Amino acid sequence: MNPLGPGATIGVLGGGQLGRMLAVTARQMGYRIVVLDPNPRCPTAQVSDRVVVGALDDLEAARHLAKQVDVITLDTEHVPAEILADLETIAPVRPGASVLRTIQDRLVQKQFLDRIGMPQAAWAPVGDADELEAALGDVGRPAILKVRRAGYDGKGQVRIDPDVDAIALLARLRGELAVAEEVVKFTREISVILARGLGGEIQIHPIAENAHRRHILHTTRAPAPMADPQRKRAHAIAVAVAEALEHVGVMAVEMFELADGQLLVNEIAPRTHNSGHYTYGACATSQFEQHVRAVCGLPLGDPRALTGAVMVNLIGDLWAAGPPAWHHVLARPEAHLHLYGKDAPAPGRKMGHV
Ligand code: ATP
Ligand code: MG
Repeated sequence: MNPLGPGATIGVLGGGQLGRMLAVTARQMGYRIVVLDPNPRCPTAQVSDRVVVGALDDLEAARHLAKQVDVITLDTEHVPAEILADLETIAPVRPGASVLRTIQDRLVQKQFLDRIGMPQAAWAPVGDADELEAALGDVGRPAILKVRRAGYDGKGQVRIDPDVDAIALLARLRGELAVAEEVVKFTREISVILARGLGGEIQIHPIAENAHRRHILHTTRAPAPMADPQRKRAHAIAVAVAEALEHVGVMAVEMFELADGQLLVNEIAPRTHNSGHYTYGACATSQFEQHVRAVCGLPLGDPRALTGAVMVNLIGDLWAAGPPAWHHVLARPEAHLHLYGKDAPAPGRKMGHV
């Protein structure tokens, strides 16, 4: 397959901050960007050549985008796989529909991880109250219930502590199918971000160590301090996942590290990842450039870190009393401010990062 060189047009499904940073990088490299999003002023649209306004499950709108581009990629894993399969008849979709079919339903993702022998927390499917009782019998309490589809930043998750009425909590998921997971007593969370090219070659960014608050990523530091054998184990897991999926593009594998060193896969993100934002500036090639290179069939870049880095997310709550005092950040010569151009700072909403 011929590489798509600069001048080609990349279609992005979903117009969030990941698409925005991808678009900034792609345009710097001479590509054009068309984005599909319901909001014509979304973060990606602000830095794109064209916008197709439509929902991510609007087949006609997605086809309209597909006809204008040379390759299609994703800002989110929540574009229905059936839509991607349809678009594949118009333009290459990278990663493809089959990857998304496995990832976008948590149950299917967990079955896939079991099938390829990847370690994960105990889990069980939950469709109704009876299944919930059985699931809690399997995974124990406390447990976390997660909706199978469309969750992010801890949305669609409910924790079930030992002495609560689990059935009553199930109602919070409004009848959505879910999975129950054991609550893992991890010592830390890490993520492995890699890129897999069109020919199957893989490059891995330095591993990130992540701290969450209220189930939302708060801080990443990288490269995570880690002994060589442990780093190799983490790499091997992420590479096995990417190869089994025949993924193309950047992918993040979130993992829990336990006190005895064991690594459990938490979840797979078939795209650039919040914990990889540090690569923009701190690595020879950012995750965004790496993704452009991978989906366009170009050689992958050098992912090595040029410096250590800490990334802190700016969540909407910080705007409660008006815009934050940016001069505190900007007065630090080593800090870089990224804002995503979102209109309304809401609690829990990712607005930017430093
Ligand atoms: P995102 O896509 O933003 O990463 P998400 O909504 O898909 O988030 P998860 O990654 O499943 O959610 O969970 C978010 C965070 O909640 C995890 O990074 C972790 O801190 C905590 N968490 C989730 N599942 C478990 C678990 N089984 N045991 C302990 N902590 C958990
Ligand atoms: Mg997660």
